Amino acid sequence: MRKRRDSGFTLVEIMIVIAIMGALLGILLPSYTHAMAQGKLSACKSNLKNLSTAIETYRNDYGGQAPPMMRSLAPTYLAVLPTCPSRGETYSRSVSDDAPDSYVLFCRNWGHGELGLASNFPQYSPAVGMLEK
Ligand SMILES: [Zn+2]
Repeated sequence: MRKRRDSGFTLVEIMIVIAIMGALLGILLPSYTHAMAQGKLSACKSNLKNLSTAIETYRNDYGGQAPPMMRSLAPTYLAVLPTCPSRGETYSRSVSDDAPDSYVLFCRNWGHGELGLASNFPQYSPAVGMLEK
């Protein structure tokens, strides 16, 4: 008569399951990380557009004058000043001496470098639109 083995898994079965789970994790983790970075970049772009809209609204209310600081926008034009979801940095505005009415808003960190963007990108200009590099 054959002896019945104890219930449960053998060591080889457990090792095979762990190897399969490790392979699946190795496949899915990079795409998950990339999807998270893309989501943060999309939120960052949305923040830049919202900031630009708030600045333009401010300019309409103050006869074309730009806000002296980004902080001047909150809480009247924005409930709170947005920060980049990637690293929590605030956004900056660059004004050209040649055209003081035009400006470029940019994300000032390397938080989107994993997606191949250079420093200070994405940028948003009301005249040009969204700039990525
Ligand atoms: Zn950003």
